[in-house]
Amino acid sequence: MKDQTKVIHSGYDKDTNATMAVPIYQTTAYEFRDAKHAADLFELKELGNIYTRLMNPTTDVLEKRFAALEGGSGAIATASGMAAIFYTIANVAQAGDNIICASKLYGGTLTLSGHTIKRFGIESRYFDVHKPSELEELIDDKTKLILVESITNPSIDVPDFDGIVAIAQKHNILVAVDNTVATPIHCKPFTLGCDLSIHSTSKYTTGQGLAIGGIIVERENLVEKIKDNPRYSHFNEPDESYHGLVYSDVPLPIFTLRVRLALLRDLGGAPSPFNSWLFIQGLEHLPLRMKQHSQSALEIANFLEAHPKVKKVNYPGLASNVNYTYAQKYIHGGCSGLLSFEVDSFDEAVKIVDKTELFSLVVNIGDSKSIITHPASTTHQQLSKEELDAAGVPSGLIRLSIGLEDSIDLIADLNQALEG
Ligand code: PLP
Repeated sequence: MKDQTKVIHSGYDKDTNATMAVPIYQTTAYEFRDAKHAADLFELKELGNIYTRLMNPTTDVLEKRFAALEGGSGAIATASGMAAIFYTIANVAQAGDNIICASKLYGGTLTLSGHTIKRFGIESRYFDVHKPSELEELIDDKTKLILVESITNPSIDVPDFDGIVAIAQKHNILVAVDNTVATPIHCKPFTLGCDLSIHSTSKYTTGQGLAIGGIIVERENLVEKIKDNPRYSHFNEPDESYHGLVYSDVPLPIFTLRVRLALLRDLGGAPSPFNSWLFIQGLEHLPLRMKQHSQSALEIANFLEAHPKVKKVNYPGLASNVNYTYAQKYIHGGCSGLLSFEVDSFDEAVKIVDKTELFSLVVNIGDSKSIITHPASTTHQQLSKEELDAAGVPSGLIRLSIGLEDSIDLIADLNQALEG
């Protein structure tokens, strides 16, 4: 089935009322038929609804639809993209372990990896996604995860997936990809050999900046990499918090199952059914929207590249860009709507941001409305000068999230701001 068909139909069997639209199951809990039914659900002898912190029928459609779109075996939705990233890390690593991350990542992921999980005793190490040899040097027997973004926000890099995946396979380590910017329309991480795909659904999935959410998708047969793998012994030994359940023995997608049964159970962070419903609405036209976002972004990247005040344009769809060959290989049908460009200084960047009229100054991406951001004074403000440089965020960098307005109007707006 093609993507545009999956986003309309996957994961929804019409309920007894035969509603065409997926219903919003706005409920906290579900009645059990009797005590045995309740016990069977808790013991996983029967699958079904228990409590909305763990599962919900509206959210279930979103999860199944996303899994279908990514070509995965299962998915779990969370209250935000950051929750999805944190749960992915927490599902594999504990105090004393380490994870290896791309050095250029979304600012929140950098503070999570560099500061917050450090307090939990988990170390983060960083590598250049175009130099997989750097990655191999960082691996030891406590390494639990490799984390990259398929198109990085805001530096707009595309990793050398072949090189990274080959090293991950050699050392039997899971690779998670934040696929938020590329979306499942432009990048399919599982076909590249990655194990987990993460999204902030707050972005292109809703498409109109309507709600905060996240999702983790797991590839088919992930159990083969986890079973008897000493790096993931907690999946292979009895979980005392779940009456001795051994996850690798369960015939279900086990990574997302453990997020559900252990992490959502204990940490919360579940999505609201209404937000899941909004994401289902957004998904229906995601392929159509991504085509337009990508086409307009390429036109604007070309305009900016030709402008004398612009030092550099970061967009992997430009033949001049260092990521172009990687994008040709791993990103298909367009390079999404995110681009960044560099002007001379912090002050020049602030002037341009303030002069645009159609672009809104907002710290979001993936909206139908075009957005302009100055990362050094907003999303990346909490990073030190050294962290900013390492993250590929010079102080004169401006990030654009190209919306669905006509690109002629967007170019005219940028032109007057640059000339002003
Ligand atoms: N990943 C990427 C690439 C992002 O751009 C963002 C937010 O901007 C996140 C994760 C975090 O998502 P959320 O804001 O839904 O927590």
